[in-house]
Amino acid sequence: MTPPQPRQRIPVTVLGATGVVGQRFVRRLANHPWFRVDHLAASERSAGQRYGEACAWRLGGEPHGGLADLEVRACDPSAAPAPIVFSALDSGPAKEIEPAYARAGSLVFSNASAFRMAVDVPLLVPEVNADHLDLVDVQREARDWSGAIVTNPNCTSTVLVMALAPLHRAFGVEKVFVATMQATSGAGYPGVPSLDILSNVVPHISGEEEKVETETQKMLGTLQMGRIVPAAATVSAMCHRVPVIDGHTEAVSVQLRGNPAPEEVAEALRTWSSVPQEMQLPSAPTRPILLHGEPSRPQPRLDVEYGEGAAQGMAVHVGRVRRCPMLGVKFTLLGHNTERGAAGASVLNAELAHARGRISL
Ligand code: NAP
Repeated sequence: MTPPQPRQRIPVTVLGATGVVGQRFVRRLANHPWFRVDHLAASERSAGQRYGEACAWRLGGEPHGGLADLEVRACDPSAAPAPIVFSALDSGPAKEIEPAYARAGSLVFSNASAFRMAVDVPLLVPEVNADHLDLVDVQREARDWSGAIVTNPNCTSTVLVMALAPLHRAFGVEKVFVATMQATSGAGYPGVPSLDILSNVVPHISGEEEKVETETQKMLGTLQMGRIVPAAATVSAMCHRVPVIDGHTEAVSVQLRGNPAPEEVAEALRTWSSVPQEMQLPSAPTRPILLHGEPSRPQPRLDVEYGEGAAQGMAVHVGRVRRCPMLGVKFTLLGHNTERGAAGASVLNAELAHARGRISL
């Protein structure tokens, strides 16, 4: 099924465009077939400057996504209206700014945690719960907004739920234990001071374990009568910051209904395909899960950037699927925290919304 192509690229605004995730948005959108960046916005510190001055570009590819001369604005929907807004704001400012854009009619695709657990806000990963996008109707009715907020989960939850979803569908997930090794880029820029992270592991990331435990249940839940009934799965997370630039690694043990053999679990992961693949959305990886056979994979340095064009960094890597003496089966997974876990996730959500006719132009 090929999705409808817009006649002209749809103008979008990027909020928080100067940050770690904002830069990923700008680079990703520079060559996007459906969307083009019209406005860039950030804090009052950056407003009024050219993007090239306000933003210390830290990515490869064309510097500033070719937008170095575009003026950065303050986050004000009356100054820069757009049908689609991508938000890479911190949670604090997002609480006020994202509703202002939704009230003004924009569909806001947010990375911030501010509204993720709100009962009328979709926490969306198109491979996992594409039907949760319908919560937008409930939200508009409840809040009397012409626009809406659609969130993507925390980067750690995103890559975890990508591996759990096919197992939940095939067998039913009962319990999950996950220990994470999270990249430093997950803390924004400049993030953890180098003297705290080099040759070191920091066994605490504020609020992260709670996010992984609750967001996963919401995403694996079902939409019934206009509300999400969370999955009954128990999730326990232990989160660690490690000296890796990009790519969250997670050691996962799962208890599945019927206690399937590791070979059956591996097959369910390997053969999984879902809505973005069927709809051929531009940022969808050909396979959402790449199953590795070598015992030393996946590794952030070797695997995290896998993929071509818009699908680069969008697949989740799984390896070492084997018997767990405690919960039944265990494996190692890896996902790109600022692409699959942030900018790429929001762009894929917007592609799904467009393909489902939910963007008003
Ligand atoms: P970051 O590098 O610190 O960037 C923050 C951005 O927000 C900057 O553009 C900054 O603009 C802007 N900003 C700060 N205060 C503002 C205000 N009062 N009003 C308007 N704009 C303001 O952070 P990040 O890592 O990109 O994270 C952005 C969001 O994505 C956060 O909510 C984070 O939790 C989430 N997220 C991050 C990751 C990741 O792996 N990094 C993954 C998933 C989700 P100035 O430059 O003008 O200060």
